Amino acid sequence: MSRSTRDDAQASASRILVLGAGFAGLWAAVGAARLLAGTTHPHGPVEVLVVNARPFHSIRVRNYEADLDVTKVPLADVLDPIGVKWLQATVTHIDVAQRQVEVQSADGGTRTLGYTRLVFALGSALVHPPIPGLAEHALDVDTYEGAVRLREHLAALPSRPASAGRYTAVVIGAGLTGTEIAAELPGRLAALAGDPAQVRVVLMDRTPKIAQAMGEAQPVIETAMGALGVELRPDAQVAGVTVNGVDLVGGEHIAASTVIWCGGMRANALTAQIPAEHDELGRLRVDHCLRVRGVDDVFAAGDSARSLIDGKQPSIMSCQYGRPMGRYAGHNVAADLLGEPLLPLNIDWYTTIVDLGPWGAVYTQTRDRVLVAQGAQAKRTKRLINGERIYPPLNRNPADILQAAAPTVQTPPPDDVPAC
Ligand SMILES: Cc1cc2nc3c(=O)[nH]c(=O)nc-3n(C[C@H](O)[C@H](O)[C@H](O)COP(=O)(O)OP(=O)(O)OC[C@H]3O[C@@H](n4cnc5c(N)ncnc54)[C@H](O)[C@@H]3O)c2cc1C
Repeated sequence: MSRSTRDDAQASASRILVLGAGFAGLWAAVGAARLLAGTTHPHGPVEVLVVNARPFHSIRVRNYEADLDVTKVPLADVLDPIGVKWLQATVTHIDVAQRQVEVQSADGGTRTLGYTRLVFALGSALVHPPIPGLAEHALDVDTYEGAVRLREHLAALPSRPASAGRYTAVVIGAGLTGTEIAAELPGRLAALAGDPAQVRVVLMDRTPKIAQAMGEAQPVIETAMGALGVELRPDAQVAGVTVNGVDLVGGEHIAASTVIWCGGMRANALTAQIPAEHDELGRLRVDHCLRVRGVDDVFAAGDSARSLIDGKQPSIMSCQYGRPMGRYAGHNVAADLLGEPLLPLNIDWYTTIVDLGPWGAVYTQTRDRVLVAQGAQAKRTKRLINGERIYPPLNRNPADILQAAAPTVQTPPPDDVPAC
């Protein structure tokens, strides 16, 4: 039975409501708390409340890795020490005119939350085009839950009857996520099969080249995939996915127990409920201070927002932009409430560091993806990012947590991390 509650806690106080606790939302909440700490709002206390579907901050960029436990950061460890409230619930409806958000908790109960200022940071989701069988049979690494499903699926392969495609995996989509999971699979499948000769991993894309958008990293990725034994299938058009594998346009069938879809992301569908301009990826257009254009009391950050990040070019859905967008959105939403000046966000660098499994990694800079490092050297940078740089402080120390949300832009990741 579902229950519905009107939440009136906000009646006597101002509330900054942050939707989402990913790379943008978590940092927006901490950024707001940082500015509010020690200040007095003329109309009484200001509450920062975060709504997130899970009770943890997901280090989503690590979903291609085998160990998923390290990708979960309990919200309580970061938000409780600094007095930020949080609620595990799913956002179902946003009413900007009434300044209300409807949420549903795991037990089916619904609540309506009021707000004074809103930060929209619900991220993005994998796009599923209407390819027959794709939604039913393909796995993914888009979310923590998807990555867990993949892990459980792989672990169950040895108990299946022997068949041609038992240890074959087809990865469809050779962008960043497809490349990263494809590089991991030969090792993961060989460990399960006990015999690398039984393993086949295919990375396919409809583009004329695999990892076509990767600039100077493209040939490096081809070399790495060759060394890892991953078959590359450019120019491949998928006609359908079945429980037995992949059918290609032209009639070829690839027998595979594992099919992983990595076909691109689109902004969270709830962006459509904000009456503002959206771009072709469904993202909310925000100004340099992360305020949604035309909706004064709503800010947005991360994959759900499109800002001109260097003053000219649109932000790219990424954690490297999502985290600073979050910090600035949090600072600015609180500053707006306090009547203080807002800070514009400007980031003049862009990097891509693609994990290539046991082969290493590849590191490029700029949107043209100029090669900076590869192999073991780039892998050290990737480990630094995935293991340290993108984590909040985990020591429950309020000063450290708040300081990490200061509205500043980091320098690009180093390419000379010393070997241990
Ligand atoms: C496998 C993989 C590898 C990647 N590698 C890189 C990389 O190397 N470098 C890089 O920069 N980027 C990378 N990315 C992209 C990066 O993960 C995203 O750009 C980033 O997570 C965006 O941050 P965000 O806060 O906007 O969204 P998210 O991190 O997705 O956070 C959104 C949050 O909102 C919550 N949420 C969503 N809907 C609801 C709802 N209705 N109600 C309540 N809560 C909800 C989610 O649970 C989540 O906590 C990778 C992505 C994947 C999947």
